[in-house]
Amino acid sequence: MNRPPSIDSNQQNALQAWEEFIEEQVYPEPGAKAKADYRNYDNPGRDTVREFYKQNHHGQTFDFVNQKRDTYLELNQRRMSIFEALDYLNTLVDDSDPDIELDQLQHLLQTSEAIRADGHEDWFVLTGLLHDIGKVLCLYGEPQWAVVGDTFPVGCRFDERIVYHEFFADNPDTRDARFNGRLGIYEENCGLRNVKLSWGHDEYLYHIFKNYLPEPALYMIRYHSFYAWHREHAYDYLCDNHDREMLHHVQAFNPYDLYSKSPQPPNWNELRPYYSELINKYFPAKLSF
Ligand code: FE
Ligand code: FE
Repeated sequence: MNRPPSIDSNQQNALQAWEEFIEEQVYPEPGAKAKADYRNYDNPGRDTVREFYKQNHHGQTFDFVNQKRDTYLELNQRRMSIFEALDYLNTLVDDSDPDIELDQLQHLLQTSEAIRADGHEDWFVLTGLLHDIGKVLCLYGEPQWAVVGDTFPVGCRFDERIVYHEFFADNPDTRDARFNGRLGIYEENCGLRNVKLSWGHDEYLYHIFKNYLPEPALYMIRYHSFYAWHREHAYDYLCDNHDREMLHHVQAFNPYDLYSKSPQPPNWNELRPYYSELINKYFPAKLSF
């Protein structure tokens, strides 16, 4: 396999910094309290996160999303097995921060092991293990702001409940009459499948997996970063009843994604046979990415 392009340390930093920010400042674990309003919080990661949101909210326009969909949803980047994709993703580690010993695979394993420990169905466990492998987009050279971060609809007004909403003032779609109404280009209750979300790892992975996993798993994957919907209950007017029925699955997944950091890191070598069987149950030998 080719060596992935190197990623500059600022960029790498944003990936971890964003996840910690969401988990500690915006949506802390029930019972825990955020230290302060997230706009003022005192943390060395703050500037990285602000800069990240600035770029994300400025760059995620309707046209940008369509360009990325055209580029990636043909799924003609590479053919990989799930294990090759996991290995490939794991080359994306944050070596800019010595305190973070969690690589990408550890986050995935901790998520899936927490789901397994609670006795959930095997496809739910598998979803935990695989939900972020769309982040291989970083290794194709995409900037972090177009890979991670919370997602939101484009083509209609940006809801005020989106984190750092004020940075949308720089998004050209805000001044475009086609896109800045409540419905924009959409129809009332058209269903989320007909809505274009900001581009990132969720939508990409949904298209890679859509023929292989049960519907609730696909919702978890496709909408796990759509916090404005699954945490803030925004955009219900774009949902149909099917979306509303599936919402609780996305909500069931979210705490495992955010709060599953374990002091005892799971051992991949020991767990590999179990996951290998699970992967073979649901997926063919190679998939198109
Ligand atoms: Fe994710
Ligand atoms: Fe995740």
